[in-house]
Amino acid sequence: MDKKEIIELLQSTGREREILLKRAAEVKKQVVGNKVYFRGLVEFSNVCSKDCLYCGIRKSNKKVVRYNATDSEILDSCRFALENRFGSVVLQSGEVSSPVFVKRVDNLLKTIKKLSDGELGITLSCGEQSRETYARWFESGAHRYLLRIESSNPELYYKIHPKNKNHSFERRLESLRFLKETGYQVGTGVMVGLPFQTYDDLANDLLFFKEIDIDMCGMGPYIEHEGTPLYEFRGSLKTKAERFDLSLKMIACLRLLMPDINIAAATALQAIDPAGREKALAVGANVIMPNLTPCIYRKEYQLYEGKPCLDEDAELCRNCLEARIEISGNEIGYGEWGDSKHFANRTKK
Ligand code: SAM
Ligand code: SF4
Repeated sequence: MDKKEIIELLQSTGREREILLKRAAEVKKQVVGNKVYFRGLVEFSNVCSKDCLYCGIRKSNKKVVRYNATDSEILDSCRFALENRFGSVVLQSGEVSSPVFVKRVDNLLKTIKKLSDGELGITLSCGEQSRETYARWFESGAHRYLLRIESSNPELYYKIHPKNKNHSFERRLESLRFLKETGYQVGTGVMVGLPFQTYDDLANDLLFFKEIDIDMCGMGPYIEHEGTPLYEFRGSLKTKAERFDLSLKMIACLRLLMPDINIAAATALQAIDPAGREKALAVGANVIMPNLTPCIYRKEYQLYEGKPCLDEDAELCRNCLEARIEISGNEIGYGEWGDSKHFANRTKK
């Protein structure tokens, strides 16, 4: 697919849209199968040194009560994942790179590996770090890393981030390169429906994923948050329903473009449509991240308005997901890591 074709698909409606979604579902089934893999998401800290203009937990949002979950709370969530045969966990946080933070994550990785006897796969999503830190965490047991590029267009990148060296597009790219060179399965992604974002940008994002040869992707709708500078532009946004639909089409196009990667059904989809993640599974996604963050912290990890599952405990979350996934015709890959086939294919070459 070239850029022109991708743009046409992203703008498709009616029968053309149906064909795109159906074709993506077929390709998913043929190439990665209809298993859905769980990654228990633990948002272990909302302390962040950055000021991304879209994010509710940005450093300058003084209304947020900052937290650091204790080690024992984090380990309890991991134990829950293990006992419920989730296969993997994702440790996510704001971006901090102090030696204390680096060491803390390092210790947690070792402890999680030990408590699960190596059974739990671990994905990290802790932002930009030095090459040494990425290597250290990899050595200690993390084997996948999520770092969204947010937009592959530097001009747009600087419209949604402050223009300073703490928010450098070049550094973002370099971090993705470091992660790959270290040996991680690398995941990236973008927000869909950002202010100033065009169809051309979105098509270029998909081609960028192909060019840097990613293993995993997480894409979901951009959702405004009152306590952020981008809120000012809310009047220029597509409707939430349009952002939702465009996210589904992005997922479908990506499945056609990169058939063997893992694609996550982003939580933000569920903030717009209660069955949003299941709809994404039906058009090409194959990974879902049930929230295992201790309930007491969830309301302080509000990246955007209407973030779902704020007061649902993990058990409830699991039961409701299970039923929905089965209804959507998919099967849950219990106890499996569900690694990216693309990673296996690219590293055996
Ligand atoms: N701090 C790490 C980072 O930025 O990579 C990980 C946590 S960060 C909260 C995870 C993702 O949340 C970001 O990559 C971003 O795409 C998404 N996010 C933040 N604000 C959002 C918003 N308003 N709407 C949708 N997604 C948002
Ligand atoms: Fe911090 Fe990540 Fe939010 Fe940016 S997106 S402000 S780095 S938590």
